[in-house]
Amino acid sequence: MTRGMDRVADKVAAGARLTFDDAMAVWACPDLPLIGRLAQHVRFRKHPERVVTFIVSRNINYTNVCWVQCKFCAFYRSPKAEDAYVLPREEIHAKIQALVDVGGYEILIQGGLNPRLRIDYFEDLFESIRSTFPNVHIHGLSVSEILYIAKISKLRLEDALVRLRGAGMATIPGAGGEILDDEARDIIAPYKDSTEEWLHVMRVAHGLGMRSTATMMYGHVETIEHRIKHLMRVREMQDETGGFTAFAAWSFQPDGTELPIRKKSSGLEHLKMMALCRLMLDNVDGLQASWVTQGSKIAQVSLEYGVNDFGQTMMEENVVSAAGTSHRVNSAEICRLIRNGGYTPRLRNAYYDDMGDPDDLPTPIEASPDLPLAGSTHG
Ligand code: SF4
Repeated sequence: MTRGMDRVADKVAAGARLTFDDAMAVWACPDLPLIGRLAQHVRFRKHPERVVTFIVSRNINYTNVCWVQCKFCAFYRSPKAEDAYVLPREEIHAKIQALVDVGGYEILIQGGLNPRLRIDYFEDLFESIRSTFPNVHIHGLSVSEILYIAKISKLRLEDALVRLRGAGMATIPGAGGEILDDEARDIIAPYKDSTEEWLHVMRVAHGLGMRSTATMMYGHVETIEHRIKHLMRVREMQDETGGFTAFAAWSFQPDGTELPIRKKSSGLEHLKMMALCRLMLDNVDGLQASWVTQGSKIAQVSLEYGVNDFGQTMMEENVVSAAGTSHRVNSAEICRLIRNGGYTPRLRNAYYDDMGDPDDLPTPIEASPDLPLAGSTHG
């Protein structure tokens, strides 16, 4: 066994917490099946049943106008760009109706940091969604958007969050985590919120009783040390608040971005990352597959590397596709991948409560071919 892996295996068997050095030992270990078995040990301790969940959801990117100009982002446009947009409310409602028609019940609504959109825009939008679609859950706004909305609306962060929640925004996506280490963050997104700011927004939101996910975008300028520190910061925050429902990690998609990196992370690296996430995040229940960036087959294999959730069925994704990657998977395909992997698919909501058998959905949901395709904004 590679140096340090005896110790890691003993700790995993005993349910003990792994350290930074343990994580480095995992990363240095070339025995991928061994790492997968250890991650599965943690996965089955947390989720003893052979069930893999997913949510019937759609992304809505309400605006692509953004001044932040993150170097990894191919989605944003300047306000004067020909293809800059703010979606009309009717169009947003039509997208939600299309989701409801196929049995969907959650929207992931995110966009750029648009200087014209203050908190009243979001309150009006969310209230209109809630009154028209009372059964649709609003999972919305990345940390960057929340901070910016508070700033341009001259509100304290707590007050902005309370108002957004009051209008219907129920949970918060972890998007914008990128790499929670300012050494890497300052290179890829110099104008964006810092590591501490990202964590602070989550701390305040969790303190208000809101739940969120946490994410990581790896495979750009960061080192493995940065990735491990990111995982440890999420773990520390979870110790403090318990507010994270799940973690998702995906690899950087370079096409159309400013970063001079053209190599995409391999499927094998992704599987190792999934296992490392599962091993390190001993206090976060869910770990999501990333079929948007890695494709359905690697997502299926990741079920043997600690993953217990297939993420969301996307009807639309405008961010990863803007960076040249556009894997599409409908709900029937997700169920087939889960069953062929030896697991039972079940629907869940944003709180990871069971929502029933996916075979009861009215119709499989597919990415609509007439919509621009792309996952989630903000890395
Ligand atoms: S990642 Fe988000 S904050 Fe950064 S430029 Fe793109 S839309 Fe703007």
